Amino acid sequence: MKLRDFKNAYDRRSFIEKETGVSLGSLGKFGFEEEIVSSKNCENLIGAVHVPVGVVGPLKIRRETTDSRHLKSHYYIPLATTEGALVASINRGCRAISESGGATVSSELIGVTRGSVFKKSLSYKSKFNINEWLWRNLGQLRSIAGKTSDHIILLRHAVIEVGRYIFIRWYFDTADAMGMNMATMASQKLAGFIEKESGAQCIALAGNYDIDKKPAWINAITGRGRIAMAEVLVPKAIVSSVLKTTPYKIEEVWKAKCMIGSALSGSLGFNAHFANVIAALFIATGQDPAHVVEGSNGITTIEVTKNGDLYCSVYLPSLMVGTVGGGTGLSTQKEGLSIMSVSGTGKVEEFAGIVAGAVLAGEISLLASLAEGSLARAHKKLGR
Ligand code: NAP
Repeated sequence: MKLRDFKNAYDRRSFIEKETGVSLGSLGKFGFEEEIVSSKNCENLIGAVHVPVGVVGPLKIRRETTDSRHLKSHYYIPLATTEGALVASINRGCRAISESGGATVSSELIGVTRGSVFKKSLSYKSKFNINEWLWRNLGQLRSIAGKTSDHIILLRHAVIEVGRYIFIRWYFDTADAMGMNMATMASQKLAGFIEKESGAQCIALAGNYDIDKKPAWINAITGRGRIAMAEVLVPKAIVSSVLKTTPYKIEEVWKAKCMIGSALSGSLGFNAHFANVIAALFIATGQDPAHVVEGSNGITTIEVTKNGDLYCSVYLPSLMVGTVGGGTGLSTQKEGLSIMSVSGTGKVEEFAGIVAGAVLAGEISLLASLAEGSLARAHKKLGR
């Protein structure tokens, strides 16, 4: 019998138990709706892995909206992790930020991207300018993409031609969803239209010019998903009382580690540990964990002000998040979003801002920990 032919997770799990001689009682305990998950999220279901969830906060946030309104709020943020000391550290960062009056956050939609690759036939008219043709037909292309979903808009595109290959990077607004499935379906229809009109053949719908789930400069430079930012000014007294160090020591560690160390290593991320916060928050809220790759692309800046206070900012140019679709509707993940009141529609910008604020908390706390020399001590005490 093929794995997919078992009628439910229990039967499939029992088969694997028999085949391997391993008891899977723990994997078999889960609370989500098996039928929905089997049809939408995970094929050949046998159970669920339980990742512990901790919470940090309250994190005070001041959010600038696109119409220049300032919304203030505070959040408790769920984090799914098995790394001891991580939650405690981010919590300390939240305290430093909140006692300083809160972080200012903002986010901007760039669009989820799909980058298809086409190949020109040898008889392809060399005078046919694909880029000019795409711009001229933008209205029709938008209409084709729009027919694939009530929540998708084709924003723009970028084109590169290499030999006989044409790479087209589409940017889509997918409303409250992260949008990779939606973008893929729209790209399929767009590819059919381009093939018909240009005679070029679509070689791969996803041709790595997207670029999805791989570290890449194009995502850092032009953005992917959303560009999110967060910043805070932490008075030196709070650096001393909460972070147990000084702004100058933190600045020195940031310069040596995030700038010089990252440059020496050829890192695309000029930060302390964005990935830690992104991964824990993504898993707790049903985001696609592989988009930690894009999320960890980013820059932290640190500066000691004239008054001797600490300015800290984080820049996340390729944040792929959604509050609808994918794994966000699963019961525990939905609760994770609900703790922050960002489940469902009209909340995705707010959520992007919270992610940036949490990343900022993580950066401040880890840099402080390195500056005061307590990183190994904390992991020994809390992580072993
Ligand atoms: P999705 O769950 O596939 O689609 C979201 C659906 O939500 C859309 O069909 C849309 O319906 C509906 N929707 C209802 N209200 C909405 C609103 N306010 N805003 C936006 N959509 C709304 O989710 P997705 O975000 O497109 O894709 C996420 C999934 O893609 C994740 O599971 C991820 O792991 C996976 N993924 C796929 C690929 C790929 O190549 N396909 C690559 C990477 C990741 P309508 O269409 O009817 O409007």
